[in-house]
Amino acid sequence: MAFEALAPMTCQELVELVTDYLEDALSDRDHARFDEHIALCPMCQVHLEQLRTTIRAMGRIGERDLDPGVLAELQERFRDWNA
Ligand SMILES: [Zn+2]
Repeated sequence: MAFEALAPMTCQELVELVTDYLEDALSDRDHARFDEHIALCPMCQVHLEQLRTTIRAMGRIGERDLDPGVLAELQERFRDWNA
C-alpha cells in the first residue's frame, strides 16, 4: 500500500468534495485527505456539520438536490475565510 506524498487538501477543495464525502463517493485517497483536513480544520468541521444538518432537513442528499444558492453561499464564505 504505497501512498505517494499526498498534497494537503485545501478548504476550497473540501467544499467541492463534501457532497461526495457525504455520499461516500470519494476515492480512498481523497477520503483520507478529507479526513485529515477535517481533523485539523475547525472551519471545515462547522461546514460539514452545517451541511449534514441541511441534508437531514431535506431528508435526502445529492448535489442536484442541493439548492445551488446554498452551495454558492458556502463557497463564498470559504473564500472569505481563506483571504
Ligand atoms: Zn478547512
